[in-house]
Amino acid sequence: ANLEPREERGKICVCVRKRPLNQREASLKDLDIITIPSDNVVMVHESKQKVDLTRYLEHQAFYFDHAFDDKASNELVYQFTAQPLVESIFRKGMATCFAYGQTGSGKTHTMGGVFAGQNQDCSKGIYALVAQDVFLLFKTSAYQNLNLKVYGAFFEIYGGKVYDLLNWKRKLQVLEDGSQQMQVIGLQEQEVCCVEDVLNLVELGNSCRTSGQTSVNAHSSRSHAVFQIILKSQGKLHGKFSLVDLAGNERGADTAKATRKRQLEGAEINKSLLALKECIRALGQNKPHTPFRASKLTQVLRDSFIGQNSFTCMIATISPGMASCENTLNTLRYANRVKEL
Ligand code: ADP
Ligand code: MG
Repeated sequence: ANLEPREERGKICVCVRKRPLNQREASLKDLDIITIPSDNVVMVHESKQKVDLTRYLEHQAFYFDHAFDDKASNELVYQFTAQPLVESIFRKGMATCFAYGQTGSGKTHTMGGVFAGQNQDCSKGIYALVAQDVFLLFKTSAYQNLNLKVYGAFFEIYGGKVYDLLNWKRKLQVLEDGSQQMQVIGLQEQEVCCVEDVLNLVELGNSCRTSGQTSVNAHSSRSHAVFQIILKSQGKLHGKFSLVDLAGNERGADTAKATRKRQLEGAEINKSLLALKECIRALGQNKPHTPFRASKLTQVLRDSFIGQNSFTCMIATISPGMASCENTLNTLRYANRVKEL
């Protein structure tokens, strides 16, 4: 069964990361229903009720390229997901890393955007770790004669519209140019020379993203944030790494009560996450047709879903508690489908 050439198998990597039970969950006596029995298996132990009202546990297993338990560090997760893709952008590749999951499950903790809550944990996220390796490779002899420059861009997709996070949330148009490339018109690309420059951009973008919002999570649960590290040679695109902190995937029972605006937002997010799944699947199966037009998110990332030189990893983040069981199962099923043939 394992006869595909290595590059084919390696085009898509799907991993799951479980976060620890937090204090609030512990104080509510929520139970941890997730185990990671080996480094590529996630088990869900769901409590169910029989007709006679006695309870029993239903065990379900899901298989991935890697599964990380609640002790795994960002560095470890990085090593098995984004790190193997970094060098591809020096070889004219397009690399993408998605964090997918329910709000509060650890997407931003993993990617390294703004940290919710006060206890600023200083561990580097994937934005910083990618930047670190990009500048390491940048200095190696193999790539010095390419005359490359490194740029950062940061934007948000909210309600199907693109906003530049490095330019006061200016609304941007997306157009297809003559060579069928998707262009985000007027997107700020700032030159960066070291990891610190990159982190300053991330901080600037994050402050722009959340300004005027009542809560960091309320806003980030409804928008996709895309941070890009771009390599250019003589002003022309050479390679690009897109790091995407997706909108929360929970669209639960409360939609009936939700305002019309919330319902529309929810529908838009569902649409984009479905389109994303189809586009990644098409990349994995080398399909000639990629259904990228179905959402703004997939339109903007079109170049990352086509061509021999595109590589994607997805980190599906899950909460461990019984209270999150429905959302966790949805996340695991979605992540499974992304790669299933
Ligand atoms: P999301 O971006 O998916 O909404 P966050 O990344 O903001 O979720 O995580 C919610 C909370 O859980 C934060 O306080 C974060 O620090 C904490 N957290 C998430 N993942 C982990 C982890 N693997 N280890 C420790 N704390 C985590
Ligand atoms: Mg977040």
